[in-house]
Amino acid sequence: MPGSVPLQQHPTYNIAIVGSGLGGLSAAIALRRVGHQVTIYERYDFGGEVGASLSCASNGSRFLEEWEVDISKAKPVILKDLIRHDWKTGEVFGTYPLGDYRERFGTDYNNFHRIDLHQHLKHVATSDDGKGTPAQLKVWHKAVDLDPVAGRITFENGVMVTHDVVVCADGIRSQMREKLGVIPHFTPSTSCCYRCVIHADKLRELGLQEFAENSAIQFWGGNGIDKIVMSACSDHDIVSCYCFYPAEKNDLNEDGWNISTTGENLAATFPDLDQRLKTLFLNAEDIKMWRLYNHDPYPQWVTGKCCLLGDAAHPMMPDQSQGACMAMEDAGALGILFSPKYAYLNIAEKLSLYELERKPRATRLQDSSRRARVDLNERIGWSSANDRPGKLTIEEVCGYEMHAHVAQLVEKSRGTDVGV
Ligand SMILES: Cc1cc2nc3c(=O)[nH]c(=O)nc-3n(C[C@H](O)[C@H](O)[C@H](O)COP(=O)(O)OP(=O)(O)OC[C@H]3O[C@@H](n4cnc5c(N)ncnc54)[C@H](O)[C@@H]3O)c2cc1C
Repeated sequence: MPGSVPLQQHPTYNIAIVGSGLGGLSAAIALRRVGHQVTIYERYDFGGEVGASLSCASNGSRFLEEWEVDISKAKPVILKDLIRHDWKTGEVFGTYPLGDYRERFGTDYNNFHRIDLHQHLKHVATSDDGKGTPAQLKVWHKAVDLDPVAGRITFENGVMVTHDVVVCADGIRSQMREKLGVIPHFTPSTSCCYRCVIHADKLRELGLQEFAENSAIQFWGGNGIDKIVMSACSDHDIVSCYCFYPAEKNDLNEDGWNISTTGENLAATFPDLDQRLKTLFLNAEDIKMWRLYNHDPYPQWVTGKCCLLGDAAHPMMPDQSQGACMAMEDAGALGILFSPKYAYLNIAEKLSLYELERKPRATRLQDSSRRARVDLNERIGWSSANDRPGKLTIEEVCGYEMHAHVAQLVEKSRGTDVGV
């Protein structure tokens, strides 16, 4: 009978996670806390995360708090305002308060440096402190094959392992996806993007310290492809910019996050832009560029004992700042379904409910992120007279009660064959 399994009968599963990005680490934290043995397999040795900001709205931050992650250790800047600037003059033409997030949705709107958050989540996942058994991390384990029915992974180094459950969190270019029978379909978007960071000390030298001192996410442009998104992170020590521009402005055919370029190229891409930003670009560090792609949603996320999570499941445009938040939600859903509360469900049922819970919501975010690429009015939290009916709202994203929704889905599935 559902609900009647004594806690001591909660089975401990031996769970593999392929990929130690923000999604894989979140899943490791969620699953170790509810009593499972977790092993994370990472192809590299953690050079992985890149220098750029990552905003974590309440729906992501909620899980960090639920997992008792000490968020302050990841040095966030708590976003208080959204500021819009004139493209050419830089003049502020709109300031919109964001500071009521905790009041409205229960958590802050945290802005992290990705490397700070990654390092801290790795610590939380693998540390002796905290609930459950520390996750084991095996680096230099590049998964090259997966038998989803047996739960067997083969690595490039010749090691082969079998697990009760395999969570494939191997990112936007996931190789495990095809082993689950999912063939991705994606097309180049009209946009490319630069990202760069600059230290607060350098900004002070340039007389641009206000950009570091601000607790705001700041926009230039956004009506069309061109858009600059700036925010401070890492305890205001670093300012990060994402700079979107039309793909036809260059012939970037290479793929990847780590194609370096110069401040001169970056500044020259935006000839009419606010001079202060061009000065920043010319002095920026770690300037990278990459091409953006539109990814179609996948027919399924689960095969046999395996599921997809994070960008491997729902790659999306960055324009809602929700990719990592969705990965944290995926991890949250696994943590709930594999908790003692649902011990009476078997693995197939849990994974089936995971897909049922996550796929419609993440697909809606994918869709609205694509629209927000060229129209800032589509951004969640942004409302205007032009809002279309059915537009994704901040309440829908940040006010989401996953525990209640999972309970409803489980209830609905009772008596129906959800898993096998
Ligand atoms: C410009 C931009 C800005 C963004 N801003 C935000 C934001 O503000 N807020 C937000 O919520 N999201 C944002 N996102 C999205 C967010 O960055 C991603 O959704 C998130 O980082 C995905 O995490 P992941 O763990 O799923 O994948 P990844 O970070 O790609 O991690 C995958 C991991 O798997 C490993 N791996 C890959 N293949 C194998 C293999 N075969 N075997 C073993 N390991 C393997 C990789 O080395 C890597 O460590 C942004 C994205 C972009 C492009």
